[in-house]
Parts: sequence; C-alpha cells; structure tokens
Amino acid sequence: MKTAPALTNRRILIIDDTPSIHQDYRDILAPPAPAPGTLGPRPYFELDSAYQGEEALELVTRAVAEGRPYAMVFTDMQMPPGWDGLETIERLWQVDPHLQIALCTAYSDYTWEAMAQRLEFGDQLLVLKKPFDSLEIRQMANALTWKWQMAQDAASKMLSLERTIEERVHELLKVSHLLQYDVLTELPNSTLLGDRLTQSLALSRRHDKQLAVMFLGLDRFKRINNALGHPIGDEMLKRVGKQLVATVRASDSVFRYGSDEFVVILADIHHPQQTKRIAQKLLAAVSAPQHIAAHDLSVTASLGISIYPDDGFDALALIKKAETAMRNVKESTPNDFGFFIEAMNQQAREQQGIESGIRLALARGEFVLHYQPKLNLQSGRIVGAEALIRWFKPDHGWVYPSDFISVAEDSGLIVPLSKWVLCEACRQACAWQAQGLAPISLSVNVSAIDFRQRGFVASIEQILAETGLDPTLLELEITEGVLMQNVDTTVATLRAIKDLGVRLAIDDFGTGYSSLSYLRRFPIDVLKIDQSFVRDLSTDSNDAALVGAIISLGRSLNLNIIAEGVETLAQLAFLKAQQCEEVQGYLFSKAVDPQTFALLLKHGLQMPEA
Ligand code: C2E
Ligand code: MG
Ligand code: MG
Repeated sequence: MKTAPALTNRRILIIDDTPSIHQDYRDILAPPAPAPGTLGPRPYFELDSAYQGEEALELVTRAVAEGRPYAMVFTDMQMPPGWDGLETIERLWQVDPHLQIALCTAYSDYTWEAMAQRLEFGDQLLVLKKPFDSLEIRQMANALTWKWQMAQDAASKMLSLERTIEERVHELLKVSHLLQYDVLTELPNSTLLGDRLTQSLALSRRHDKQLAVMFLGLDRFKRINNALGHPIGDEMLKRVGKQLVATVRASDSVFRYGSDEFVVILADIHHPQQTKRIAQKLLAAVSAPQHIAAHDLSVTASLGISIYPDDGFDALALIKKAETAMRNVKESTPNDFGFFIEAMNQQAREQQGIESGIRLALARGEFVLHYQPKLNLQSGRIVGAEALIRWFKPDHGWVYPSDFISVAEDSGLIVPLSKWVLCEACRQACAWQAQGLAPISLSVNVSAIDFRQRGFVASIEQILAETGLDPTLLELEITEGVLMQNVDTTVATLRAIKDLGVRLAIDDFGTGYSSLSYLRRFPIDVLKIDQSFVRDLSTDSNDAALVGAIISLGRSLNLNIIAEGVETLAQLAFLKAQQCEEVQGYLFSKAVDPQTFALLLKHGLQMPEA
C-alpha cells in the first residue's frame, strides 16, 4: 500500500531588480493552471517577488512570523541601488537560517574567491551562472525545496531524539534518587550511608577528630503495624524520622537503615561521653507521643553507639558495631542506649560460628531427633511423643536446642532445619508402626519463621504424602506469641493446616498474650501449659490458681490440655486433681533416642503413684 506523500513546502521567493526576470521565473516554475478538462503543465511552486534585498527581508521575516516560511530563494547578485546578493543572503539567514538559496551571477559579477571572502558558504547555497535555462531552474527549485524538507524532517527527528534523551536522563536522575533515598521518610538510605560515612571518616582522619555512629532500632515496632495496620505504622516511621532530624545538628546526618532502623552520624565529637547526652535526646525525641489517626501512640528505641577511631576505621565496621551494641541493648534493656564493647563482637563471632556449624551439620547429618513420651493421666498409657531436636557434634558431644535454635531462626537456617525435622519425625512414626507398635500422635515444634513461610502448608502436605503418615497422627506445636501476630493471616494458615487433617497445639501456653476472644478464633486442638507454671505449682499459689484456670478454660473450649515439665509427684497429684488430661515430663521420661522410645512404647511406662 502506498502512503500519501508528506506535504512539502513549495514556497519560493524571487529577488531580482529586473521585473521581466520575475515573469521568466513564473513561466518556468508556476505556469498558469490548465483549463478544466484539459491536460497541461500544472503549477509547481508558490512564488513571491521582491525587487530589492530590503523588501525580501521584510517578506521573509513576515513568512517566518506567520509560520509559513519560504523553502528557498532565487536571488540576483547585482541589485542597485540596494544590497547586493551576498548582503541580502546574509541578512535573510539572520531571520531564517533554514532558507535554501540559489544565487544567480554573471561571470563578470564577482570571482568565487571574492564571494567566499564575504560570505561563509554552507551547504545551503548554490551558485547559478547566468545565463541559465529553464530545465536548470526547475531542477534547482525541485532539489532545493526537497532539501529544505529533508533538513526540516531531520531537525524535528533530532529534536524528538533530544527530548527522549532528556526524558531518559531525567528518569535516571529520579532512579538514582530512589536508590539513595527512602521513599517513605525521604531520608537518605543505607546506600548513601556508606558513601557519606566514608566521606565523614576521611574528614575526621584529616582533622584528627572523633566520630560517632548511632544505630537506633525501634522496640517492638511490628506490634503497631500488626495492631493498627501498615498506614499507621508508616506514618509513625515518618514522624520518628522527622523527630530525629530535628534533634541533631545540621552537620550531623540521619539515615533510614532498615524497616524500623535508623542511623545517625555525629561528626566532630570531642569525647565519647559527649554522645551520651545526644543519645538521651534522641531517645526522648523518638518516644514523644504522636497523635495519628485518632490514636495517641508512642514508640521507644534501643540505641547502640560506636566511635571512630576506638571501635574501627571504616564505615562498615563502625555500622556493624553500633548495630551489635543496639541489639545488645534491645535484648537487655530496651529504650536505652549503650556503647559497643569488644565482648559483644566475641558473641557475634560465636553466633557466626554456630551458623556455619548448622549449615555443615545439615549437610553431614549430625542432627537427630529424640522423643519424649506424653501420657494420658487416667490410663497411664503413652499416647504421643514430642520430637525434640539434638545436635551431635563429633568433637564436642550433644548440643541442645537452646544453644542453636535462635541462631537458626536469625539466619533463616531454621527453614531447611524444620523441614528435616518434619520429614524425619514422620518417617520415624511410620517406621514404628511398621514394627507393629501402636500408632501414636507425634508432635513437632514449629518456629515463627516456619509458620510465616509462604510455602509452609504445601511443604507439610508434601512431606505427609512422601512419608505416607496419617495426617491425624501429626501435631504441630506453635508458641502463643506466633499466633498473636497478624491474627487474620494466622487464622487462615491454621485453617489450611487443619484442612490437611493435622492437629494443632499451642505450646508454652500462658507465657504470651492470647486473649480469650482470639483463642476462640483459632482452630486449635491442644493447650500445652508452660512448664514454668508447672514448676512452681506446689510452692506458688498463684501458679496453682492459674493452672487450674487454664485447665477449666481448655475444657470449656473443648480443647485437650497437656502439662509439660512435670517433675514431681506433688505436681502430678495437683494435675490429677484438676483433671488435666495429659502429662509430659522428667517424672516419666526424658526425651530418648528412637530405639529406646520403641521399647517404652512396647512395654509401657510405670505411672508413679501420686
Ligand atoms: P518445648 O517445645 O517447650 O519443649 C520442651 C522442653 O522442655 C524440651 O527441651 C524438653 O526436653 C524439656 N523438658 C521436658 N520435660 C521436662 C521436665 O520435666 N523438666 C524440665 N526442666 N524440662 C523438661 P529441649 O529439648 O531442650 O527443647 C527446648 C525448646 O527448643 C523446645 O521447647 C522447643 O521450643 C525448642 N525445640 C526443640 N526441638 C525443636 C525443633 O525440632 N524445632 C524447633 N523449631 N524448636 C525445637
Ligand atoms: Mg514443644
Ligand atoms: Mg513448651
């Protein structure tokens, strides 16, 4: 398919002091239109006439102003009494630099060199030697108007290209801003922190000054998000950012480091003690009450401090040490500050060692599961087992979960570890059944990280399918704290697990904050009373009352109740009297290896006389 040709500019200005010449041009370039119905030459060009350079300048100026510029000019060389051709051209180009020009000269007018001295010839000027013929004129008019059009097209393409480039450059500016600044608080982010801190350190070095890095972590900030929603959490973070900026001097800088973490660089410190006062001011600023969406809210922060040059020379080391100090404060005394001390590094190194140890242990198969029996108080029979992980370190011996589970959780290694535990526990339960032992319920502990993992339910389903264990024999123990975060999502996940047929238990019940109304919403089967209450049953009347209350609460909600950590006959007697259903504890058996557990299951356990 042919496309319509682009409209071209066919306006030509003839400049010549001899009127008859104008008619010659008209005959050649704009012959009269043929009579209707007859064939004949059609008008090619739109012609205007000027008889002097000055008049031509007026016409060209007007044409430009009206947005209908000429494409080309034919101009004579000698036009007394006014400007000659060269001067005319020079003036015309000043008002319309795009004009294509054909200069008509007789041999006698000027030499080429003389002309070149007066005017810089671009490729927009052609010289036509008189006398000329009509074909030459027509070809030149065609060629130069075409050239004008091409030059215009190229210029507009160039312009749009320039615009595109400008836009791209603008987007790149924007992008790098996004990379360096936090959108929410508008504070510089951790990327920029590295650069700025390195610069500040160079200055401190040169001027022999000290510098402090302060790492702030908000305490239990997730609770605001969970309880009131993310928009309110976001607003709170913005306000905290503003408070921090308002508290420090202009020469100090504040960065948003992580979701609820900020870093402040204090340049020009004379003495580390000087930072104490600033730390107190920052903590006070953070905890100022904020009125957000009809709530009066306040958060606190824990703050860690590292000092150049005492604690390190480079940005990374100083940030890490301030962070370590912050974590230490957060664990021991939140809403306070503390300086980095070398002992903390030792602890961090130990954690690092445990982390790589877990990785290796997973690959080398150094983990094993031990099983602790759960007994029915009335029948005295073993009705279940809790799988408890143990790590046998070849050159060290047994390592217990309290020494590595939290590191596994912090490093994310808990995910593969828990998968292994689930698989191994299900496999073992099937193996016992294959040996002809009575089927029992098998409990596996699940950590918060596992529970929030996207593919968690699917992986349980897969493990059940692979091992062939009856899902109703599997029970997951989840701590109360885990359940109380993001209650809606929690309920959905719990339902999905229940849909598989798996049972659910709340572990360490009584240590968290569950309210009765929530408890009703969770599709759970078992409440496991925390061992701290069981421990002091006989000495602490409060605990006794609490355990009694939990048991009757569980009964009213139709839940199974199990007491863990039962060590004494007195505890057993109390639980019996309260009609607790199941018990677990050293009084009956510690967690034992699978072979020993099989023997316990086969021969039964002697229920001590309470
Ligand atoms: P937990 O789930 O509350 O497990 C009960 C802990 O109490 C076990 O310690 C058990 O050996 C201990 N225990 C049982 N009976 C008694 C008793 O009569 N007196 C005393 N003082 N303690 C008793 P363990 O095996 O050291 O496990 C500690 C915690 O580590 C567990 O608490 C659980 O939260 C976690 N854990 C254990 N295995 C796993 C696992 O495979 N995955 C995950 N995520 N966590 C695990
Ligand atoms: Mg447990
Ligand atoms: Mg427990």
